[in-house]
Amino acid sequence: MKQTIRKAFKFRLNPNSDQVQKMVEFAGANRFVWNKALALNLSRLENKQPMLWYHELAFWLGLWKQSDEYGFLKTVHSQPLQQTLKNLERAFKDGFDKKQPLKRIPKFKKKGLSDSFRYPQGFKLEQASNKVFLPKIGWVKYRNSRQVIGDVKNMTISRKGKYWYVSIQTEYEAAILHHQSTSMVGIDLGVKRFLTLSDGSYIEPLNSFKKWEKKLALAQRKLARKAKFSANWKKQKQIITRLHERIANARLDFLHKSSTEISKNHAMIVVEDLKVRNMSKSAKGDITRSGRNVKAKSALNKSILDQGWGMFVQMLEYKQHWSGGDVLRVNPQYTSQTCPCCGHKSKDNRLTQAKFKCVECDYTKNADLVGALNVLARGHRVLACGVETLVSTTKQEPVFTESACV
Ligand SMILES: [Zn+2]
Repeated sequence: MKQTIRKAFKFRLNPNSDQVQKMVEFAGANRFVWNKALALNLSRLENKQPMLWYHELAFWLGLWKQSDEYGFLKTVHSQPLQQTLKNLERAFKDGFDKKQPLKRIPKFKKKGLSDSFRYPQGFKLEQASNKVFLPKIGWVKYRNSRQVIGDVKNMTISRKGKYWYVSIQTEYEAAILHHQSTSMVGIDLGVKRFLTLSDGSYIEPLNSFKKWEKKLALAQRKLARKAKFSANWKKQKQIITRLHERIANARLDFLHKSSTEISKNHAMIVVEDLKVRNMSKSAKGDITRSGRNVKAKSALNKSILDQGWGMFVQMLEYKQHWSGGDVLRVNPQYTSQTCPCCGHKSKDNRLTQAKFKCVECDYTKNADLVGALNVLARGHRVLACGVETLVSTTKQEPVFTESACV
């Protein structure tokens, strides 16, 4: 049996100044097309007119290109522009999809924040000489740090800070593997501990964030004192961008290490369905409750954590997919309040943030571990009940309901 594996390889580009200028132009044109088509659709929606989908939008794109006003679009390779329209169509469809409650109507792209464009074809890759060919830009050198495996499906060019990157997406066939381990484990995602496993082990959060956050806050205060758009202000802005990059890299590294470790040791991993969890406002409410500015701070922490958790689960899913294991998502409701011993469900079971004590049977344990045990138990129930489960890298994400099993 074979399966298709998709992989992305990202490298930093070393373009010359002409190429940089073109990339800036192309990214600008793609942002322009996205915003223009988005505005068009939003005004149609407002006027109760039907949406324009890809084929109609592509027709509009043709008109814009011929106009004097938007003639600059002609200098850009047409496929990335079409791809941008396809992406917009996808974003609208996701936004309307009721099964994906966290999706929203697409947003306008801002300059400098989402500079990217994708080639669906026409590119070339020469690994031996460390270069890629990008239509209308030419051969661009890249920092070749690892071998690209598989058939190249598309290339996305993007900017982060002052650097440009190419992300090469490939596909290849590989034999379906059987995971080397047979163990099944439940995971509780938390704040004090990044995660707790049902076997009692846990992973501390990445503490260096605190250090970085302080540096960032300091840098931002410095920025506020400088005259806007002055040379010093711009310099300070760059410092902040670099700090953000470092934080992002440290987090990515941390998430990779954690997910690799767990994926290696367990064939079946049960996690909380973050979509359901984010919607229930009770969630866990366990961000630190002391100190000043708790509200603003906890909102920030939460967003950082949410992002981290989402990414972490994604990594688990594809790593399990590669190694022949599985990830199962279960409904997280009441996993922190239910007694694993007698099943009694009550808020009063949580005396403190860290401690679980059942008011019915006196069962006492670390609260995060209780969460992980309940998650694992739900996983077992789902498998036993034969409810359709979700396997790691499936494209659509079925929303799992537990109605019959709770
Ligand atoms: Zn109990």
